[in-house]
Amino acid sequence: KRILITGGTGFIGKELCPRLLERGDRLWVYSRQPPENVKAICGRVEAVNDLDSLRSGPGFDAVINLAGEGIADKRWSASRKQALRDSRIRLTEQLVDLARTWEKLPEVMVSGSAVGFYGDQRAAPVTEDTTPHDEFTHRFCNDWEKAAMALAGNNTRVCLSRTGVVAGPGGGFLQRMLLPFKLGLGGRLGSGEQYMPWVHRTDVVNALIWMLDTETAQGPYNVVSPNPVTNAEFTRTLGRVLHRPTLFPAPGAVLKVALGEMSRLLLTGQNARPARLLDEGFEFRFKELESALKNSVGKH
Ligand code: NDP
Repeated sequence: KRILITGGTGFIGKELCPRLLERGDRLWVYSRQPPENVKAICGRVEAVNDLDSLRSGPGFDAVINLAGEGIADKRWSASRKQALRDSRIRLTEQLVDLARTWEKLPEVMVSGSAVGFYGDQRAAPVTEDTTPHDEFTHRFCNDWEKAAMALAGNNTRVCLSRTGVVAGPGGGFLQRMLLPFKLGLGGRLGSGEQYMPWVHRTDVVNALIWMLDTETAQGPYNVVSPNPVTNAEFTRTLGRVLHRPTLFPAPGAVLKVALGEMSRLLLTGQNARPARLLDEGFEFRFKELESALKNSVGKH
């Protein structure tokens, strides 16, 4: 297939692109980076710096849309929130607009979203049918999803990946947690009762490819492991995998002062279940947190 990807250079993209190339797909990666960087990260792909250069013409069989400013990179000031929104919603609108100029609409668009769509759900199990709690992450994911759904119709399936907290080697949130944990300074965050809907990156990549290939797949999918854990359990498991104690809890009040509203990413969560993926026959490779973490930190 001919596939246009945004965010191909990111943590998920750098595993996804080689997997797609291996099976013979041809990739065009939209990136702000110079082509040599894109090729060094993604492999034998065409680097695209300007989406307008793809207007009209034959178009693509599929679009995968993963780009966006890092959600947890900086405090959520008003201007940061705008940058988080613009880098996803505007880009998604641009992609939809672009696809409409092609000779043929793509068969499928797989577009990013996050479990933050549901907002804080305490301990209640969350499926794709759960009513979201109205807060910033919900409104933000909802607008991002709606922008992608604009392309859905008779000719195009749109699949939305409501991704959980992605664990994998060499990046993502785990990379940031490793140093304190390795120093023996790890501990639960706040009460530790909040759920962490973790998922291994290989399962995210497999789920995105499943959405590309499964002709009946459309709409939102929770891309989370079948076994979410609380933050306290996550903390204990990571300590066990690294053979380090986890005696240093970070009090919620301290995280709130240090991180502002962004502390909600750490102190609230979703007991999210991959209900639709399981119902529709998707198989997870990493079902248990311990094996997912061992693989992510290089201890098989
Ligand atoms: P990364 O942050 O690793 O990569 C995202 C990519 O987006 C970057 O490689 C960058 O590409 C591009 N990008 C960043 N800022 C902008 C911008 N202002 N305009 C255009 N492009 C930009 O993301 P992940 O691979 O971790 O995740 C992919 C998507 O999935 C993201 O949208 C993320 O929000 C979402 N997600 C990720 C989760 C996780 O735990 N990793 C959890 C839930 C959702 P370049 O530099 O080449 O332009």
